[in-house]
Amino acid sequence: MRLLLLSDIHANYAALEAVLNDAHGEFDRAWVLGDTVGYGADPSECIAAVRDLDALAISGNHEEAVIGRMSTDDFNPVARAAIEWTASVIDDDEREYLQGLELKQVVDRFTLVHGSPRDPVWEYMQTGPQAVENLEHFDTQACALGHSHVPFLVQVTADGVAEQVEHSPGQRVPLGDDRLYLNPGSVGQPRDHDQRASYALLDTDAWDVEFRRAEYDVAVAQAHIREAGLPEFLAERLSMGV
Ligand code: ZN
Repeated sequence: MRLLLLSDIHANYAALEAVLNDAHGEFDRAWVLGDTVGYGADPSECIAAVRDLDALAISGNHEEAVIGRMSTDDFNPVARAAIEWTASVIDDDEREYLQGLELKQVVDRFTLVHGSPRDPVWEYMQTGPQAVENLEHFDTQACALGHSHVPFLVQVTADGVAEQVEHSPGQRVPLGDDRLYLNPGSVGQPRDHDQRASYALLDTDAWDVEFRRAEYDVAVAQAHIREAGLPEFLAERLSMGV
């Protein structure tokens, strides 16, 4: 099975469209790892595209806040403004779709979460010790996650050492036998100083992954953000990749 891994689309339809064009014909199923909405100005278009893909999607912290399952008090003012705007523009059907998303899904050798297995909503997986500590919070060999907006593959060896696996766009990286964490990066708001949309193609038969970057028209996403009256920083950060 060839899987398209998307995370943190963040209501950036220009970026999502570029990714779908780039990956066209190369996947059988899509997994969407949360934060489809928030920050950007195209929540309805992005929800529709994810539904059209018939993707297995999970809920992220932005969905949880938009549907009111989590307080916006825990968000910074810029994120909160976008969450409140999003909640005001999506329709009942879209809200119902978001309400139906789970925080965790298990599929074959993968557990899908937004943040981390022990705290699907809030934890940012950024260090080796976190990767090791989280192993007891899921049963599958692998975990697919997002939230940090930085693409990575981390393997934890049998003797408990977490190692980042080097990868470059377009290269197929074997996943091996160790337990692992796979983050495809962010489609709609990359934070690794590369403004291009980030995603991954996972082949569960070959058991390898390919990280990819897709160029998109950043100015279009920025114009939508400004037209919606969202905070200027949300537009600016897209061209900086932060
Ligand atoms: Zn996010």
